[in-house]
Amino acid sequence: MAKYNYDLIVIGAGSGGVRASRVAASYGASVAIIEKDRLGGTCVIRGCVPKKLLVYGASFAHEASDAEGFGWRIDGLQHNWGSLIAAKNDEIHRLEGIYRELIENAGVEFIAGNATITGPNEVLVNGKTLSTQRILIAVGGVPNILDIEGLAENAITSNEALDLNQLPETIVIQGGGYIALEFAGIFAALGSNTHLVYRSDFPLRGFDDDVREHIAKCLPKRGIMLHSNSSITKVQKKSNRLTIFLDNKKIIEANQLLAATGRNPNTANLGLKEIGVKTGDAGQIVVAEDGQTSIPSIFAIGDVTNRISLTPVAIGEGHAFADNFYGNKPTVMSHDPVASAVFSQPPISCVGLTEEQALQNNINIQIFESRFNAMKNTISGRSEQSYMKLVVEQKTDKVIGAHMVGPDCAEIMQGIAIAIKMGAKKSDFDATIGIHPTSAEEFVTMRTPRA
Ligand code: NDP
Repeated sequence: MAKYNYDLIVIGAGSGGVRASRVAASYGASVAIIEKDRLGGTCVIRGCVPKKLLVYGASFAHEASDAEGFGWRIDGLQHNWGSLIAAKNDEIHRLEGIYRELIENAGVEFIAGNATITGPNEVLVNGKTLSTQRILIAVGGVPNILDIEGLAENAITSNEALDLNQLPETIVIQGGGYIALEFAGIFAALGSNTHLVYRSDFPLRGFDDDVREHIAKCLPKRGIMLHSNSSITKVQKKSNRLTIFLDNKKIIEANQLLAATGRNPNTANLGLKEIGVKTGDAGQIVVAEDGQTSIPSIFAIGDVTNRISLTPVAIGEGHAFADNFYGNKPTVMSHDPVASAVFSQPPISCVGLTEEQALQNNINIQIFESRFNAMKNTISGRSEQSYMKLVVEQKTDKVIGAHMVGPDCAEIMQGIAIAIKMGAKKSDFDATIGIHPTSAEEFVTMRTPRA
C-alpha cells in the first residue's frame, strides 16, 4: 500500500503551480493541485493577461491620433469601457478553461479549497487531511497596501482596476513601479485624468537611470501627470469623491485611487509558522536553488519566494522542480539574466545589468546609446523619442546589459536576451546586419561609445 495519498500536492494553480503539477504527472507522479480562487492565478486571471488586453485596448487611442498624420480622418472616435471589460472577461474565461483542460489531460487531480499545511507531509483542505510525499507551495503574491489614513478603505488595487464598472474621470495611482506605470498608460490613453504619485525623482527604481529619466519625459506627453518626490499622507472620501493629500501640501480630488506599491508573498493562513517553514523579512519563503524550504519535503516556487516576481520565472522554476524530483533530470533554473518589460506607453524593456549595477560591481564598461525619432513619429507628429542603451564590459567586449524605451521594445528585447544569454560580444552586434528600416536595427549600428 502507498505510504501517502499523493506523490505531490501543489498549493496554488497559477502559472508556476500548474506547470509543475502537469510535468510531474507526465513523469508518472500522482499529483493533486489545490486552488481557493480561479484557475490560472495572478497572471491569467488578474495580472499579465488581462492587463495586456487593456494595454492593447488603450493603445488604439494613440494609434488613432497618429493615424491623422498619415491622412486618416477619424470622426466621432469613441471608446466603450464596458465592452472592453466584457471582451477581456470572455477571454480570461476561455483561458481558464484551457488551464482546466491542461490539468485534467495531464491526470492531475484538481481540488477547489483553502489549503493549510499541517505537517511536513500533510495538507488540510475542505476538512480533510491529505498525505503526500512532497508539498509545493506556489501561491503567489497579493497587493501591498501601505498603512496610511484612509487608504485601505478607499483605494483599489490592480485586482479591482481590471474590473471597474466605469472608466474613472480622474484617477490617482500610488507608486512608480511596473503596475503603476502600466495602469497609468491604460487609464490616460482611454481618457481618465491620470496622476502618478511616487516617492523618488523618477519612476521604476532599479531600472537603468537613463531609462528612468527618459520615461519620465515621455509620460506627461501621453497625458500622465507626474508627482515625483511625493507621498500620500491621507485619503478622505465624501459622496463618492476622494480627496488625496500629499506630503508636499498638494491635494488631488479623484474618483479612484489605485494602490500599486508592490506585492507581498501570499502566505497568510498557510500554516507556515506553525510547522516551522522559514520565511524572510517580507514574509517570503526562503528556498534553496532547487526550491527546497527549511523543511526538506516542502518546496516553493514563484512570487511567494520573492526572488524574481515574473510569470516565466515561476514557470521555469516549476518545470525545473518537476524535472529534478520526478523526471530524473537534474536541472538548475538560471535566474541570470532574465529579460522583462513594462507595458507602459511607451513601453520599456531590459535584460542584464544596468549601467549603475555594472559600476557597483566594479566592471569597467563602455556605454553605447541612441536617442532617435522612430520613423512613424515623423509624419504622425508625435513628439516622442525612443531610447536604447548597451552596457559593454570593456575587458571582454561582452554585452552585459541592454535597455530600451520605445514602441515594440518588448518584442525586440527577447531576441537581444538570447544573444546576451549566449555571451554575445559587441563585435557580434556590430557584425550583424540590421533590418531596415526598423527601430531594432539601432541595436546593431551603435558604433561610438559615450564619452
Ligand atoms: P514594484 O516593486 O514594481 O513597484 C512598487 C512601487 O511602490 C515602487 O515605485 C515603490 O517605490 C513604491 N513603494 C513601495 N513601498 C512604498 C512606500 N512605503 N511608500 C511609497 N512608495 C512605496 O511593484 P508593483 O506593485 O508595480 O509590481 C509588483 C511586481 O509584479 C513587480 O515588481 C514585478 O515583478 C511584477 N510585475 C511585472 C509586470 C511585467 O512583467 N510587465 C507587470 C506587473 C507586475 P520605490 O521604488 O521608491 O521603493
